[in-house]
Amino acid sequence: MTLLFDLPAAPSVPVLGSEASYPVRRIFCVGRNYAAHALELGNAVDREAPIWFNKAPAALCLSGEVIPYPPGTSNCHYEMEFVVAIGAPAFRVAPEDAMAAVYGYAAGLDMTRRDLQNASKAKGYPWDTGKDFENGAAIAAITPAADFGAVADQRIALVQNGETKQDGTLSDMIWSVPELIADLSRMYHLAPGDLIYTGTPAGVGPVAEGDLLEGTIDGLEPVRLDIGGAE
Ligand code: MN
Repeated sequence: MTLLFDLPAAPSVPVLGSEASYPVRRIFCVGRNYAAHALELGNAVDREAPIWFNKAPAALCLSGEVIPYPPGTSNCHYEMEFVVAIGAPAFRVAPEDAMAAVYGYAAGLDMTRRDLQNASKAKGYPWDTGKDFENGAAIAAITPAADFGAVADQRIALVQNGETKQDGTLSDMIWSVPELIADLSRMYHLAPGDLIYTGTPAGVGPVAEGDLLEGTIDGLEPVRLDIGGAE
């Protein structure tokens, strides 16, 4: 069978210490996973179940890029996040078995068209236009899990133009990494190439043309993004 046209290859993420890069199949994201961030957006802290949404692989962009200010918004926000890269199949795994599915970790930015997300939330509509857009999922190089060690109280922070805006620790997460993987695996056959953005600490805010965003997590490569002009 021949195809009418060729699609771009799957986007991929560099891996520290490896010549090979990590191809991306799906991007899962969790909302309101840090209590102080849920409260700053006026949401109740909810331990009922994680709130999931997705971004297409076409939303991926790599650390170090200059991205245009996204179209369709006048209130684009940064959200600094710890990203989990899945490296083995996981389906209906218990939290105590979930970490075996992890390949590694990366620093990422869940860029958000907050005005569109808020309008969708107010109407009970899906968040897609607010969350899933080109360059909306920034990511730095992946560090293999064995090199990172245990997910504990590593610092996660976001600096905008030299000013610290977000500052928390991974232990602030409401749902832990194994709990997130276990919950997703109830609904999906997780597989290598699946990324999980695990939510953002308090301090999210708008970006503007000319901004430099620098996100750091102890033990990982920082994620850097320059915000260019509108297209
Ligand atoms: Mn987020």
